[in-house]
Order: sequence, then structure tokens, then C-alpha cells
Amino acid sequence: MSASQIKKPIVAIVGRPNVGKSAIFNRLAGRRIAIVHDQPGVTRDRITAECTKSPIPFEVIDTGGIGAILDDGFGEQVRAEADIAIHSADLILFVVDGQSGIHPVDSDLAKVLRKAHVEVVLAVNKVDDRKHENAVTDFAGLGFDQPFAVSAEHGRNMDGLIRHLGQQLIEQFGKPETVEDSEEKDEEIPPVSIAMVGRPNVGKSSLINAILNDERTIVSDVAGTTRDSVDIPYERGGTHYNLIDTAGIRRRTKQDSSVEIFSVMRSERSIRRADLCLLVIDASTGVTAMDRKIARKILEDHKPCIVILNKFDLYHPDGSKSARLEELREHVETELFFLHYAPLVFVSAKKGQYLNKIFGGIEQVCRASSAHIGTGELNRTLKNAIEKNPAPVRKNRRLNLLYATTKRSDRPRAISPPSFLLFVNHAELLTRTYERYLENTLRDALDLSGLPIDFQVRSRRD
Ligand code: GDP
Repeated sequence: MSASQIKKPIVAIVGRPNVGKSAIFNRLAGRRIAIVHDQPGVTRDRITAECTKSPIPFEVIDTGGIGAILDDGFGEQVRAEADIAIHSADLILFVVDGQSGIHPVDSDLAKVLRKAHVEVVLAVNKVDDRKHENAVTDFAGLGFDQPFAVSAEHGRNMDGLIRHLGQQLIEQFGKPETVEDSEEKDEEIPPVSIAMVGRPNVGKSSLINAILNDERTIVSDVAGTTRDSVDIPYERGGTHYNLIDTAGIRRRTKQDSSVEIFSVMRSERSIRRADLCLLVIDASTGVTAMDRKIARKILEDHKPCIVILNKFDLYHPDGSKSARLEELREHVETELFFLHYAPLVFVSAKKGQYLNKIFGGIEQVCRASSAHIGTGELNRTLKNAIEKNPAPVRKNRRLNLLYATTKRSDRPRAISPPSFLLFVNHAELLTRTYERYLENTLRDALDLSGLPIDFQVRSRRD
């Protein structure tokens, strides 16, 4: 993982209109744009930017740039912006106007922010000279530590504010890593747990043997055995893997049906433990009901997945390769349509054909999961998609996306599927079909190969 892939902390600027949020944003972003007009329908680039002047680089969001134009007046609008900040930022920069004193909306906002579990830095803006400084103490009544007096327009004390924000973030996250630190950390990255799952006789053992016997695979001799599977640690191309081999333990019984049922039960537990599932399908028989059952389990557990079509040598061996590929792909895409995010890999364990494609696929999924998705790009992509193809009107209302952000995973794993938090006007206006449209748009714009996407939707009225 390179330093650029590490998610930067997010600082959100909140405050009522006209306190100078965009001027502060431009100062933090190091830009010299004085005023940016919000025009409906125009994708705003000023929502997020990077602040590199702080001891710890961070992403800054101007919630005022989100354009949450709501019918209920600006009090409601500011509260919606505060809600977005509370749910997506690591630190909130609350801006007030030092020349106009405490406004009722400031007090309302302060009440909301005090209850949130996010650190808040209060900046009193427009303190252009000494004579305005006396007013700063009045703002102590809002209930935050030491108000920070600045003038964004004149650049007064802005460097001090940036240092202070950086200091607050260091208290939360520790000092930023140097390149050497992050290289050392690479050593500690847990191995990628890969479960090879599928019904009996699809060729799981053959594939595992082919992988482990490949000279590029370095197998460690300490395999662990659990009740349902064997864990085989190994290394390939510098990456550490843990192969969960469900096929390794066989509980054959006389009746074929119970063999299958046991195999599904074992698969279920392996799927739960895995970072990535390799679902093996027998190309010569095609997708069966049992395959679909295992596939559904992978989907329900929200697991990254690659579908491996094994025994490709037996699939219409006399046809042309491209026609065989196309036909089989169509069959699998129809039968496993719900597992749409999983790429397909066609192999023959017996003939040792195309096996390196499996690792090509695994590496691609790992890369996709560690790539940093910028908030700016995410919002631009989704807003453009919505402008191009607006959501259907329901009860005279139409879905309006205020802001989207990526959600940090609570329990970091070797591969973590992205989770997006969408702030919308009314959550119930987001239909399954439209959600699928947004998902496909993101898949076209970003590399999300093999990863399920999770959308969490927050309505401003929640
Ligand atoms: P498992 O139960 O899923 O572990 O399946 P096995 O690895 O035991 O394979 C079942 C049968 O399929 C064995 O007879 C294998 O030799 C055969 N087999 C596995 N992979 C291939 C393949 O790619 N092509 C062909 N023709 N046979 C295969």
C-alpha cells in the first residue's frame, strides 16, 4: 500500500451562510479563487480539496458548497450540512462571523455539534484587525475550547489555524507515516484469506494442487486445520495468502445429496472467514442450483468474489475459443446474474491452462480495494450520473443527492469492499433500480473489480 492510498482525514467546514466558509476553504486549499458561484446543474469542484500545508495532510469539505438547497429556509439547510459533516468528517471547523456576533443559527448549530462525537474547532472569521478581537471572547459562550480568531480575506492567522487543525488531527490519528514507516507496516498487513468454494467434483482440489505445485507459489509448511477446512499459508509475488481449503476435509457419505449438503455447510463457514471467495463452477455441467445456493451465500455475506469456470477443456472442445468463451460467459451471467460484480476466469486445472489468470484476478481485486476513492471524484461521478438520468418522480418529489462520502470500514481487513454514505433529500425516493444505476456508474468510473458495493443512505430528515 503506498502512502497516497492511505485515506486522508477529513475536515468539514460548517457555518451559516456569509460567515466566509468559502474564503476559509480557499485558504486551506491554497487556492486564490475569491468567490465561487453555485449554479444549479453545474458540478461544483469546490466541495473538497486537499490541504497539504498542515503537518498532516487532510481533505477539506466545504459543506456550504454542497448546494443543499432546501425548501425550509437556511436554518434547515445549515442543519443538513452539519449532519453531513458529523457523519463524514474526522474534525469539524465551525466558522462564525466575528463582526456580526452570535446569530441564533450559530447557537442552534453549536447545540447540534456539541452533541456529536466529533472534535470541533471554532474559528471566528472576519477578525481583520485588533479592534475586532474583543468580540472573540463572546463566542466562548458557544461551548467550545478557545475560539480561534482569523481573517480569511486578509490571511490573518490562517497559518496558525491550519497548524492547529493539523495538531488536532495528530492527537486523533498520530503522526503521519513516512514512506519507511508505511513500508515497515506492510510487513504487518494480515495475509489475504482466500476461500476456494464450490460443490463436490467441480475441481477445487485439483485447482489447489495446481496452485500449490506452481513454482511461483511458496508454500509454508505450517498448515492449520479447523473442523471444516485446512488453512494453507503461502506466498506469491511478495503477497501473503491464507488459502482456506474446504475440499481438504472430506466427509463422504453414501448418499450423494448429503455430500452436497455438507459441502454447502462447510462452504458457508469458509465464506464467512474469507476476504475473497473463489467460487468454482464446473464448465462442463454449467451452473446448477447448488452453485447458485453457494453464490447467494457469498452475496449475503457481502464478500468479494471471482467466479472460476473450471474444466473449460471439456466445454464444447471442438468449437472456436472465442465462441466458447462468449457462450459460457452469457450462460454464467444469466444464471448468476445477482453476483454481477464477480469477474469470470476460465481455466482448466487438469491441463494447467490459464491458471495465472486466477492470480491476475486476485491481484486486481486487492488493488481495487486498496485504491483511494477521492470524495471529489465520487461526488462528481454521482452528480453527473444524476444530471444525465434523473431519478423518477414519486409523489411529486425527486431524489436529490446532497453529498456522498466513502465510509471507513469498522474492522479493516486485507480486502475491504467499499461502502458509500449517500446524503439525500428523502431516502425513500431511492429505488432499487436507481441504486443499481448509480452502482453501475461507479463501476464504470472506478476500478471496483470483484468488490460488492454497499450504499448506506441517510435522509436529511432521519
Ligand atoms: P473437488 O471435489 O471440487 O475438490 O474436485 P476434484 O479436484 O477432486 O476434481 C473432481 C474430478 O474432476 C477429478 O476427477 C479431476 O481430475 C477432474 N477435474 C478437475 N479439474 C478438471 C479440469 O480442468 N478438466 C477436466 N477435464 N477434469 C478436471
